Amino acid sequence: MKIAPPDPGLLSLNTATVRERWNLREMIEGCARHGIRGISPWRDKLAGLGAKEAAKLIRDNGLTVTGLCRGGMFPAADRKGRQSALDDNLRAIEDAAILGARCLVLVVGGLPAGSKDLAGAREMVRDGTGETLERARSAGVALAIEPLHPMYCADRACVNTLAQALDLCDELDSGASGDLGVAVDVYHVWWDPQLQQGIGRAGDKRLLAFHICDWLVPTTDLLNDRGMMGDGVIDLPRIRSWMTAAGYRGFHEVEIFSARNWWKRDPDDVLGVIQRRHQECC
Ligand code: ZN
Repeated sequence: MKIAPPDPGLLSLNTATVRERWNLREMIEGCARHGIRGISPWRDKLAGLGAKEAAKLIRDNGLTVTGLCRGGMFPAADRKGRQSALDDNLRAIEDAAILGARCLVLVVGGLPAGSKDLAGAREMVRDGTGETLERARSAGVALAIEPLHPMYCADRACVNTLAQALDLCDELDSGASGDLGVAVDVYHVWWDPQLQQGIGRAGDKRLLAFHICDWLVPTTDLLNDRGMMGDGVIDLPRIRSWMTAAGYRGFHEVEIFSARNWWKRDPDDVLGVIQRRHQECC
């Protein structure tokens, strides 16, 4: 299958990719310098600059905020814990609104400490997402549930397939208002035999973000060994073609957690590689 290269104007930098060497100001200015039009900050970096100051700097540099990472983490052992998770999500919604982010990404959370009740955790995720959705709506912020690879089910997210995320969307937002959808991260869903079907099912109303990187063989760390596009086994052009066919017109956000390689390099070099690989491998 021959697919034309993507529009370079759709490239976005997820700040996790350069988080070890740059603060948010450097990331914003780096994107502007390289002609990268989108940025997706993580909240730890946002805290360093402040949402208002970040929003101004992002606006002044003409960037689009393709997402804010992240909210979620709903399950907790007791009511107090669940309430503090909700409070944290409300703060994230406020920041996403200030930034004008296209979505707040939800990494929904896994099992509470000491628990083996996976079904119960998933109920807490449903309830927490539902409560957060009401507040997000009134703030004009869309929520994007990010299904995570099943290896993260215990400690990060017990929503593990696109179908499962879309079932949640159907339950909580049956009218497909656009207020609740999914973030499709190739790292988490590339292996899923139902992926194409799920992307088609989501359609343009529910496809809120597209995260790209690559799956290395072998993978030496569960969290921080993601690959640069082209260095692994994910058929990125094919997945992008499914996103496009389903109506997705948004950004392609590069999110690479890479303790042994990319985090060690000069971020300006990394951005150059990202731009080349986006054209050659995506
Ligand atoms: Zn992601």
